[in-house]
Amino acid sequence: MRVRFAPSPTGYLHVGGLRTALYNWLLARQSGGTFILRIEDTDRTRFVADAEEDIVDSLEWAGLDVDEGPETGSYRQSERTALYDAALARLLEEGNAYIAFDTPEEIEQMRSRLATDTNPNPRYDWSTRSHMKNSLTLGTDEVALRRERGDPFVVRLRVEPGAEVLFTDIVRGDVRFRTDDVDDQVLMKSDGLPTYHLANVVDDHDMRISHVIRGEEWLSSVPKHVLLYQALGWETPRMAHLPLILSPTGGKLSKRNADKQGIPVFVREYREAGYEPSALLNYLALLGWHPESEQEVFSLEGLVDTFSLDRVGPSGVQFDMDKLAWFNGQHIRMRSPEEIAKSQMEALKKAYGDVDEERAVQAARLMHERMAIASDLVGFEYLFKAPSDWDEAGVRKRWKDDSARLVQTYRDALMDVQEWTAEQLEETLRRVTGQHDVGAGRLIHPVRLAVSGVSHGPGLFDLLVYLGRDAVCERLERAVNALG
Ligand code: GLU
Repeated sequence: MRVRFAPSPTGYLHVGGLRTALYNWLLARQSGGTFILRIEDTDRTRFVADAEEDIVDSLEWAGLDVDEGPETGSYRQSERTALYDAALARLLEEGNAYIAFDTPEEIEQMRSRLATDTNPNPRYDWSTRSHMKNSLTLGTDEVALRRERGDPFVVRLRVEPGAEVLFTDIVRGDVRFRTDDVDDQVLMKSDGLPTYHLANVVDDHDMRISHVIRGEEWLSSVPKHVLLYQALGWETPRMAHLPLILSPTGGKLSKRNADKQGIPVFVREYREAGYEPSALLNYLALLGWHPESEQEVFSLEGLVDTFSLDRVGPSGVQFDMDKLAWFNGQHIRMRSPEEIAKSQMEALKKAYGDVDEERAVQAARLMHERMAIASDLVGFEYLFKAPSDWDEAGVRKRWKDDSARLVQTYRDALMDVQEWTAEQLEETLRRVTGQHDVGAGRLIHPVRLAVSGVSHGPGLFDLLVYLGRDAVCERLERAVNALG
């Protein structure tokens, strides 16, 4: 399998683009094939200078390594114009393409002139081309004269009516169309650059792409591509058009409606927010693909083993941030506390000054089950510094008249604990509450509040072990003085 991801550098990599890249990459890896990155940069009007860099960085972050791409050779379409020119020359020579001089205004005029009730928007095609200024209607001299004069022109594919074309999409099955309904698409624009259609077909052929796997929005281009392959006498690659990614409220997940729902659309935003790349990929894999078993959580290797195109359905799938957050939590648990800590060292140092890496690992171990995202670690402030105040609602609910006395007693007892282990700390606590004839909760809640400032968190005794005797005693002392 030789597959390609062929983004246009018109903006940062979109999550939908990452899904397309992922499906291609998975198939390449599971078949021992080749994953190609091709930059489709022929549309100079929509070119964004740092888009390619973002695409490359995002793929790298996600772990989708590229076998052939701009790093290894000429994989930007702007570097490949000689190939497109050669294809054009052949198409023109063999009568499958022609030159057209019509200005946009003239095409507009043709549209209003030839519009009928049944055909309100006539296209430039077999039925209208004879009314236009092109190399099929103008004499050879006139064409030569215009070209000499430097009149702008485009090259169009000559699509003849009366034939039916069938192609089989791996996701959608048989798709039929009639050539009567296909316009004489522009292959080369007046700026001399190829259109998407021409460059895409020429490159897929030249790069020996076996399977074209891309978003549903390209399905409507397929007839044009198939006719181009036929005109050039090339074999059409196999094709799969992936279902649309929809917003939770329906409709395509556009930047605008995603913004409204608080859904980031660019991969870089997930990267910056600290998502696990493997979780995002796991989630994206399931946006369109349905594994045979009930299993939902997959590592990237697991996806390579299990993914298959014949379990990709055609209907649109809704993007759901909560579900993604759930996957992220699952993938956090698959990573070691060491790795999580390492990834957050920079942020930890920024927030708390000098944080020791071993300390961060212990913190990550303590919070492993409670994290939804690696950056949560930085948010657990009390793991890295003493609370400066105590949650008001928590105090009202948990800090009773006898709390100060009980906490003070526990603090004093902690000075004598032999081994600073969760068992000993718990035993000591139960002894104190036993002596005062109250339930353990009467001390557990105020102690938690005193050391962390909040009333929820990891197991209390594990937290105390993590904090260490000095910090615990000091924090208890401070709370007793402040809360009374
Ligand atoms: N350049 C197109 C895009 O931006 C490629 C579509 C295709 O894969 O053929 O998605």
